[in-house]
Amino acid sequence: MLIDKFGRVHDYLRISLTESCNLRCKYCMPEDYTFPAVLPKHYMTADEIDHIAKIFIRLGVNKIRLTGGEPLLRKDAKKIIENFAKYTSVDTNENPIKLTITTNGILVHQFIDVFQNANLHSVNLSLDTLMPDRFENITKRNSFHKVLSNMHLLLQNNFHVKLNVVAMKGVNDDELTDFIQLTRDFPLHVRFIEFMPFQGNEWNKNKLISYKEMLDRASHFFEVIPLENKKHDTAKKFKVLGHEGTFAFINTMSEPFCGDCNRIRLTADGKLKNCLFSKGEIDLLTPLRTGENILPLILSSIENKQQKWGGQELFDNTENRSMIAIGG
Ligand code: SAM
Ligand code: SF4
Repeated sequence: MLIDKFGRVHDYLRISLTESCNLRCKYCMPEDYTFPAVLPKHYMTADEIDHIAKIFIRLGVNKIRLTGGEPLLRKDAKKIIENFAKYTSVDTNENPIKLTITTNGILVHQFIDVFQNANLHSVNLSLDTLMPDRFENITKRNSFHKVLSNMHLLLQNNFHVKLNVVAMKGVNDDELTDFIQLTRDFPLHVRFIEFMPFQGNEWNKNKLISYKEMLDRASHFFEVIPLENKKHDTAKKFKVLGHEGTFAFINTMSEPFCGDCNRIRLTADGKLKNCLFSKGEIDLLTPLRTGENILPLILSSIENKQQKWGGQELFDNTENRSMIAIGG
């Protein structure tokens, strides 16, 4: 098992498939970011992802999230996702892993069968506004209606859909109640995520809106009831009485959940990050390609995990790769 010196068991791996993206969300992607047209040689191939994932599963990982960049942009995304069927199948595994994905939703309609074949039943879809013009302003692309229709397509096909909303003061905080209203008729799970600092994303404290403020506002309009939170839950969950869905707050900044962290991340170029905010990364791909045993590297990375926020103070000068490079 992957246990660090603070006794935290790491059983949740997030794998970034690419840094490329078909949106340009201003809080995520530095303006001047450019992507290679073909899969760079230093990216993990589909088979290498499978190989490394298998090692982590043997080490006790029981949940894997595919992310990016936009994971569905990879030409071999279908193969990568379907490769996981052998670990997720309840027929052939005593302890099947849970496979999930975080996507901006634009290409989801091409993947419904692929998700089903890989037993991927839970999808996190990112949507920060319910207004088409504002969507274009935030993402610099005109894809609002595609994302919304794919959200409904997922619901129609009985996927568990979580809607990720990055809450930013003065940008979309006036839509809090509209998002919660969406949970009235749809079994959607809206999650308001506190805006986090990454290199080049113009984060500052004034754009943060605290969850207490959001909860107060929600309680003013709705009859809100708290829901039970499970171990390792990063979200504080609530429901409006009588609504089909739920809503939650992910308070990375105001109430960090580091004490209970079970997450590790693999970047698209095969580097292990033991924390979203860690400056250090351990290269697994280069040694894997030269036939080295990567197990000791994995164990030492976990051993050296810092207690909180990757050993940094999260303020305006946080040193880190951008969110797309890390895998959100
Ligand atoms: N492209 C996919 C998507 O947008 O869902 C997956 C990658 S994206 C980096 C993963 C998640 O990170 C998204 O829900 C996004 O909203 C969130 N995210 C990106 N930058 C963020 C920031 N600065 N603060 C908080 N959440 C952020
Ligand atoms: Fe792309 Fe997702 Fe980042 Fe938006 S949040 S730019 S969709 S990777």
